[in-house]
Amino acid sequence: MPNNKLERIHADSASTCKLCQIEMDSIHERLDMKMEEIDILDTPRRSFSVHFPVRMDSGKTKMFIGHRVQYNDARGPTKGGIRYHPELTVEYLQNLAFLMAIKCALVEIPFGGAKGGIVVNTKELSRGELERVTRAYIREISDYIGPFKDIPAPDVYTDEQIMVWIMDEFERIKGEHVPSIVTGKPLALGGSKVRKHSTALGGVYILEAALGKLGITGLDIKIAVQGFGNVGKNAARILHEKGYKVCAVSDSTSGILNENGLDIPAVIEHKSRTGHLMDFPDAKEITNKELITSDCTVLIPAALSDQIDLENANNVKAQIILELANAPTSSEASQILLGRSVLVIPDILANAGGVVVSYFEWIQNLNQDYWEEEKILEKLRKKMMTAFETVYPIYCEEKCSMRRAALQLSIERILEAERLRGNL
Ligand code: GLU
Repeated sequence: MPNNKLERIHADSASTCKLCQIEMDSIHERLDMKMEEIDILDTPRRSFSVHFPVRMDSGKTKMFIGHRVQYNDARGPTKGGIRYHPELTVEYLQNLAFLMAIKCALVEIPFGGAKGGIVVNTKELSRGELERVTRAYIREISDYIGPFKDIPAPDVYTDEQIMVWIMDEFERIKGEHVPSIVTGKPLALGGSKVRKHSTALGGVYILEAALGKLGITGLDIKIAVQGFGNVGKNAARILHEKGYKVCAVSDSTSGILNENGLDIPAVIEHKSRTGHLMDFPDAKEITNKELITSDCTVLIPAALSDQIDLENANNVKAQIILELANAPTSSEASQILLGRSVLVIPDILANAGGVVVSYFEWIQNLNQDYWEEEKILEKLRKKMMTAFETVYPIYCEEKCSMRRAALQLSIERILEAERLRGNL
């Protein structure tokens, strides 16, 4: 009985994904999902924490906590980033790992979903400490990861160098070369061309397709980008190179705005020279909150979660929100934006370019055969466009959010894999 199902879902606070709970409830109803199907989607296959000591530069030993969640592997080995953050929790990682399973199914790459990380503020560690913390974490989880088990990648506050330490530590343990253990490596050590800016590039492909559907033509539209890490910076750069007007950008401390468009290469140079966006000439200083509600056609949250919430959703001026961060819009805010006909292109679609090129990197590593940039760009565009062109009609026909349309499609694919395996 549908009512019982829904009661059960609400009662279970660890249910599938709090980040998209409202959509999940309507998908359960729409697909008339059976209890066993809800259960199989609702439960991470493996979710664990490790505690490990690391010798700090001071000579003292400090205990660290790391987590890894391998959510669902029906479609292939689990795949997902490792983030370093002082407020990381297993519950939150479970949500993100579920979203990775959904993302991989959406762009039809043969992976399940995972996510992990260490509870740490990287700004408080020296480079040597960062390396020792990374290697110690990998020693703890090495039995549970592998090229056909679970493949980590970069995420918030982790980068190419950290991916190399992960690979190197794993290879020392196994006594052989295993570049396919991790993606997001530098080119010199088995990385893939395009991977560094693939999340941003995939998002730009999707954005241009969405602008086309809404009949917004021409380059003279205002774009605001929140976050100036790898994803936000590259998105701003690519859009600027294409000729769009990127009017506002921000990092974790402050933002800048110029109604006529910022000179993004100069902003990148300023940020790498001074370490901040502040004092950039020819721009007004704004806060991160002001950027969200600034006057623009396209808003690109590319920082952390929950940036668009109940408080500011009604004041968003953009017609399109391209979610390059994971879960930047709360469930409640999504409903408000849907009511206001703002097109929210959900994270699971908008930022899937990262894991798509990770998949290409994994294939290249396994085959020891490295591809030219043109081939990767072509294959990335095709994957992103196929996903967009499959989701968009569902979104139009069902008059739902684009997130719901994407989730629904992916859930059907995951359940099909579970069914074929005999698990349902
Ligand atoms: N951390 C990225 C994401 O959230 C990339 C994951 C991957 O490449 O495996 O999609």
